[in-house]
Amino acid sequence: MSTIFTQIINREIPADIVYEDEVCLAFKDINPQAPVHVLLIPKKEIVSMATVEAEDQTVLGHLMVKASEIASMLGLSEGGYRLVVNTNEDAGQSVFHLHVHILGGRKLTWPPG
Ligand code: AMP
Repeated sequence: MSTIFTQIINREIPADIVYEDEVCLAFKDINPQAPVHVLLIPKKEIVSMATVEAEDQTVLGHLMVKASEIASMLGLSEGGYRLVVNTNEDAGQSVFHLHVHILGGRKLTWPPG
């Protein structure tokens, strides 16, 4: 089932887009948890890490490479940043279209809550 992120991909609702290519889209989180908080999503409707299939390997690899490039573009590489992929209920996933949170711009605590 499609989510609000598919509507963002299709430009049916607005988003502050920071990067796009044929495989993925990155946009600012509407409720930022850090000075920099970007969501990186595949254009393919993958529900979560729990539904990933072997055929998704190229897309997921692409996301990791682009996460590194986008973090660098946003000035996060030197200070550091965190990539988060919340998966299903215990992790608090609220949008069921796989997304990588790119968080940075402040000291991030560990362990997460
Ligand atoms: P998660 O809880 O890991 O599923 O993350 C979903 C994220 O999507 C949350 O951080 C929300 O703030 C964010 N979000 C929901 N709707 C939008 C939207 N329309 N534009 C940008 N970010 C959104």
